[in-house]
Amino acid sequence: MVLGNYKNCVSARAADPAILTASQDGGIVTQLFAFALEEGIIDGAIVAGQGDEPFKPEPVVATTVAELMEARGTRYTICPNVSMIKEATRSYGLDKVGIVGTPCQIQAVRKAQLYPMGMRSVPDKIALAIGIFCMENFPYQGLETMVEDLCNVKMENAVKMDIGKGKFSVYTERGAVSQIPLKLTHKFEQGGCHVCLDYVANLADVSTGSVGSPDGWSTVFTRTKAGETIWGKAIEAGYFETKPIADVKPGLDLVTKLATEKITKNQKTLEGRATFGVDKGLRNPYI
Ligand SMILES: Cc1cc2nc3c(=O)[nH]c(=O)nc-3n(C[C@H](O)[C@H](O)[C@H](O)COP(=O)(O)OP(=O)(O)OC[C@H]3O[C@@H](n4cnc5c(N)ncnc54)[C@H](O)[C@@H]3O)c2cc1C
Ligand code: SF4
Repeated sequence: MVLGNYKNCVSARAADPAILTASQDGGIVTQLFAFALEEGIIDGAIVAGQGDEPFKPEPVVATTVAELMEARGTRYTICPNVSMIKEATRSYGLDKVGIVGTPCQIQAVRKAQLYPMGMRSVPDKIALAIGIFCMENFPYQGLETMVEDLCNVKMENAVKMDIGKGKFSVYTERGAVSQIPLKLTHKFEQGGCHVCLDYVANLADVSTGSVGSPDGWSTVFTRTKAGETIWGKAIEAGYFETKPIADVKPGLDLVTKLATEKITKNQKTLEGRATFGVDKGLRNPYI
């Protein structure tokens, strides 16, 4: 159950080479939204736009493939995509909304659909929620320190950042790569991530990440009926290359291992916090 309920899992990458050039992994998010937009399955998608400062994303409503392309790649800091849902349906007038988010953001989307307080008319308008795997996230200042002070790269010179194989890597426009071990980045993580029990976006229609698949490919779970249908149509239309997950290395074993490690570690932190406080784990110094 650490991988949540899913209908199918494959290794995949976008068929469009233009999407692959600047996407983070297999370009699954951008390619699937582009397909959904072209087919009228969504009228637009809430994605992490570039923002005014390098790698400091801001949510945007993309209504064209060009806008989706602008927002490709991972920014390892918070981008409050859920905050745009209301605006997407009201100001942009979208009836079929796509949204991408970390597992916690997809949980928020589902909560808003179940209890639409202040979100009237939103529940039926979420047409495609794509979740991205997530071990941890960083506040922007923490990310800046990691990149500028530890990796010795100016934020404006970075073209891509990546976490994988135990390292945080920053790629520059001149082709250099600067890497630090993840043990140096742990202290910059958001506190809230240490009680998070979802690695693979269990509540998304489709969830994806690099872990489990070879470089340049992504691991893709279809989880809901809507997710399975949209993914199936995109495959039929030739939008993705796929391989059975059992045929690739490191495969689902690594996804399961990392999800288990995250949940086990964070469950312990949660239990620790339950005994933390007045009349619980700590002595009250005032009585
Ligand atoms: C904080 C964070 C931690 C992650 N940790 C892992 C991990 O441990 N293991 C793993 O396999 N994958 C992880 N990922 C996911 C991975 O980095 C890729 O985002 C994912 O594989 C999708 O790649 P793609 O090529 O399909 O997407 P692309 O086609 O490149 O599109 C990426 C989409 O994600 C959106 N996006 C970018 N940054 C954010 C953000 N901060 N918040 C919300 N949306 C965003 C973009 O706007 C774009 O629409 C993480 C992502 C984030 C943001
Ligand atoms: S680790 Fe969990 S809480 Fe932190 S950003 Fe990722 S999904 Fe959200």
